[in-house]
Amino acid sequence: MKNPFEGKEIWFLTGSQDLYGEETLAQVAQQSQALVDIIDGADAIPVKVVWKPVLKDSDSIRRAMLDANADDSCVGLVAWMHTFSPAKMWIRGLDALKVPLLHLHTQANVELPWATIDMDFMNLNQAAHGDREFAYIQSRMNVQRKIVSGHPSDESVISDIAAWARAAAGWNAARSMRVARFGDNMRNVAVTEGDKTEAEISLGVSVNTWPVNELVAAVDAVEESAIDALVAEYEELYDADEQLRRGAERHDSLRYGAAQEIALRGFLEEGGFGAFTTNFEDLGALRQLPGLAVQRLMADGYGFGAEGDWKTAVLVRIAKVMGYGLPGGASLMEDYTYDLTPGNELILGAHMLEVCPSLTTAKPRLEVHPLGIGGKEDPVRLVFTADPGPAVVVAMSDMRERFRLVVNVVENVEAPAELPNLPVARAVWRPEPNFKVSTQAWLLTGAAHHTCMDTAASLETWLDFAQIAQTELVVIDENTKIREFAQELRWNQAYYRLAQGF
Ligand code: MN
Repeated sequence: MKNPFEGKEIWFLTGSQDLYGEETLAQVAQQSQALVDIIDGADAIPVKVVWKPVLKDSDSIRRAMLDANADDSCVGLVAWMHTFSPAKMWIRGLDALKVPLLHLHTQANVELPWATIDMDFMNLNQAAHGDREFAYIQSRMNVQRKIVSGHPSDESVISDIAAWARAAAGWNAARSMRVARFGDNMRNVAVTEGDKTEAEISLGVSVNTWPVNELVAAVDAVEESAIDALVAEYEELYDADEQLRRGAERHDSLRYGAAQEIALRGFLEEGGFGAFTTNFEDLGALRQLPGLAVQRLMADGYGFGAEGDWKTAVLVRIAKVMGYGLPGGASLMEDYTYDLTPGNELILGAHMLEVCPSLTTAKPRLEVHPLGIGGKEDPVRLVFTADPGPAVVVAMSDMRERFRLVVNVVENVEAPAELPNLPVARAVWRPEPNFKVSTQAWLLTGAAHHTCMDTAASLETWLDFAQIAQTELVVIDENTKIREFAQELRWNQAYYRLAQGF
């Protein structure tokens, strides 16, 4: 996957005013650059942070915001009022602002020079009240922002900024995301449906359909030599089933899987797509439901949703961008079946085929098995179990006037036993706070069985993303209590309907 942070920038704005005189303003500039050096130099911050000249009046503030809106490389702004910057000067700028905003509540120094402090020092280092003035106008104007408090030399401050920077980059990717659908939603399914026009208005994603026969033609046109090369790559990377090897009876199935991957990849690259969907009910003349191809494309950063589920495809793509470079991965996941042993309940998640191998560090097995659904030839697929460790599962539901994101914090665990007869990739997890509360809360939200399982980007990044997107996000974690959770949903229902306006 291409580095999604490459060429992207976060601009650092420092607020002040003319009142202080040249000497003090020069110090403001120098000290804010020093803070930017710390933030930009931190390994955890994935996006380049660029210092901008100190802002001292309404016109330059408005111009900075308009420039940020217009520059495709700018994914967000960090703002800090080193001195006092009268906030009426910020109204026109904030009114125009379209990119995500982080209010960094900090100051140039960590410790106060108690023994030498004088009024010059006090007049220079005024964020304690300058940032309150700035916050007032943002709250009054209902400007969505993340607030981070503390000095950038504090690791937790960097980690808070990093989480937001990833969310801002995810939002930037969503605003230009193109999603290709092969086929419509699975017939009669409710939860995977949704308003694609609203998705483009509120998230920026453009979701459209292409005839599956275009894909069929592309698969049929793939050169044998290209298939040879890709099959060789498979043999290198995976532990292939005997019957799929060269000369064995099912090798042709693997070659067809390779042709599907080449054709799909070409289609997605040519169209500039970030995500795609398939539907086993609408495969045209495709001989297999694409399994291996979808798994490998997800591993390369494409979003994917099965059965026409473009909402989950969008989530997976956003997760790929937000989590880029971190250990772990992201995948389509489906709550499949339960182990209900009291006190040790587990969820076994999988899909017909399409779970992304970024969830494992082990070498997947390459296998072919019947599908038992859709009436096509047996599809090739990668089989593995997701690595143990922390994860979130995220679902997006269309609640008519808004998209609702639901996140459950979970722990992926080792399967309690070998699974020799389960021919699909899977994850086994324990949901927070426990099985009963997790599932009751999930069902209360009406969230889908399809999710994005994310083991890379943090919960904080998802929260930041939802705030930037100004969409509902509810979290089911170790603190969730059903009665409060049900209340929160009722309040949200009222809030998001009122916030829509008329
Ligand atoms: Mn499904």
